[in-house]
Amino acid sequence: MSFVPIICGKQDWDKDYAQTQQYSSLYCPNCHNFQVRPVKRREFITIWFIPVFPIFWGKQVVCPICNWRQDFKNDEQLQKIVREQEHIRAGKAGPG
Ligand SMILES: [Zn+2]
Repeated sequence: MSFVPIICGKQDWDKDYAQTQQYSSLYCPNCHNFQVRPVKRREFITIWFIPVFPIFWGKQVVCPICNWRQDFKNDEQLQKIVREQEHIRAGKAGPG
């Protein structure tokens, strides 16, 4: 009888949340770039590379440069983030 180990792992997927320009280049408070974008994120525990248990299922804004992430629940929260960002942009665009 041979012993077959169970290989557990973790797999995650980031799927584009929205294709609109409005959400495509948000500000990252960690590395100060404008590369943050919203994604639909899924994280699963895998057994034999087959996703079995979901451990995270939600929406996040993600910075691809420093990997900063923040959860958001719905469009309303995302809109709020975008509105806060407008202040940051306005502040940076101004003379000083
Ligand atoms: Zn960043």
